[in-house]
Amino acid sequence: MKGLARIGKDKIGWVEKDRPVAGPRDAILRPLALAPCTSEVHMIWGDIGDYMPTDRVVGHEAVGIVDEVGSEVGDFKPGDRVIVPAITPNYLRTPSQRGFAQHCDGMCSGMPFCMAKDGVFAEYFHVNDADAQLTPIPDGVSLEQALMIGDMMTTGFYGAELANVQLGSTVAVFGIGPVGLMAVAGAHLLGAARILAVGSRPNAVKVAREYGATEIIDYHNGDTVAQIMGLTDGKGVDAAITAGGDVSTIGQAVEVLQPGGTVGNVNVMEHAESIPIPLGAWGGGLGDKTIRGGLCPGGRARMERLAALVRYGRIDPGKLVTHRFTNFEDIEEALLLMHEKPKNLIKPAVIL
Ligand code: NDP
Ligand code: ZN
Repeated sequence: MKGLARIGKDKIGWVEKDRPVAGPRDAILRPLALAPCTSEVHMIWGDIGDYMPTDRVVGHEAVGIVDEVGSEVGDFKPGDRVIVPAITPNYLRTPSQRGFAQHCDGMCSGMPFCMAKDGVFAEYFHVNDADAQLTPIPDGVSLEQALMIGDMMTTGFYGAELANVQLGSTVAVFGIGPVGLMAVAGAHLLGAARILAVGSRPNAVKVAREYGATEIIDYHNGDTVAQIMGLTDGKGVDAAITAGGDVSTIGQAVEVLQPGGTVGNVNVMEHAESIPIPLGAWGGGLGDKTIRGGLCPGGRARMERLAALVRYGRIDPGKLVTHRFTNFEDIEEALLLMHEKPKNLIKPAVIL
C-alpha cells in the first residue's frame, strides 16, 4: 500500500509499505477524510521529528471506514464509519489511570501515530484498542465536521479547559489558527463573557467572531500585551490560552493575567531551550499565576461528547476547512499548503 512519509528532514515523499496487521483488540481502517496538522509541519520542517525513521508515514487527523477488526473488538465491524482521535493511548497504563493517558508510556507517548508507528496518510492505517478509541460518526455530522473533532476540537477545547475558563471570565486567546479558533469556541461554550482573540488572517478573524470572540487584536499593530491591557482598563484577563506565537508568547500571557489566573498552553514551541517568564509580571514568583500546558486528550468517551456538541448544533467545526481536495494523493498538496500557510488558509482537508 501507498503512504505519504517523512523521508528525511524537510522532505516528504510517497513510500510503499505492507498493509498493517491488526492485533486482537485493534482495527485496520481506510481513510474517508484526512487533514494535515501544524504539528506535522513541526515534525517534518521543524526540530521535533528528527528521531523518526526515514520512511515513517505521517498524518494523525482522519475519519475512516473500518476494514478489519481483531478477534476481541466488540463494538465495531467492517464498513463502520468512525471518528479517529489523534491521541490513541494505552488505557491500561498507570499514567492513564491517573487521568493523563496522553502520557501513558512516557511524555506525549499517547500519540503512536507518527511518533511510534505509521500515521494515517496511507491507504490503510492501524488503530490500537479500537473499542477504546473509535466513535461512530453520528447522524447529521458531515465528514468535514467529523474530521475536525479528533484533533482540532479536542485540542482547542483542552486549551480552554487548561486555562480554567469560568462563567463570565474574560479570556485572551493567543493565536487563531484552527487550534486557537477551537479554543475561542471552547471558551465561549464554557461561558466566557469576553474573548480577546489575537491573530490577523482575515478568514480566521471572521470565524473567530462567529465562534464568540468579542474583540480581535492584531499582533502586527503594536505590542500585544499593551493592546490587551488597554482594552481591559489595565486589569488584564482571568484566563489566557496560547495556541500560536513563539517562545515569548507564554510570557506575554503571564503579563496579561490577573493574580489567580491560569495560562493554558496547547502550542508546540521549538527553536529554544527554555521560555522567558517576566518576573515583575509574576510578582517576583508570588503572583498566584498558573501555567499549564498539555497534549490534547483522545479516547472514545471524549470524542463522543465532542461529537454530541456538533450533532446538537452547539458548534460547527466544519467552518475551519477553507481548502478542499477530493483525491487521496492530494494529501501531499494539502500538507505542503499547511507548511506554506497562505493568508487565506485556515485548514485544508481531503474528503474522499
Ligand atoms: P497556525 O499556524 O494555523 O496558527 C497560529 C496562530 O498564531 C495564527 O493565528 C497566527 O496569526 C498566530 N500568531 C503568530 N505569531 C503570533 C504572535 N507573535 N503573537 C500572537 N499570535 C501569533 O497553527 P494551528 O492553529 O494549526 O496550531 C497551533 C499550535 O497547536 C501548533 O503549534 C500545533 O503544533 C499545536 N497543536 C497542539 C496540539 C496539542 O495537543 N497540544 C494538537 C494539535 C496542534 P496569523 O493570523 O497572523 O497567522
Ligand atoms: Zn495535530
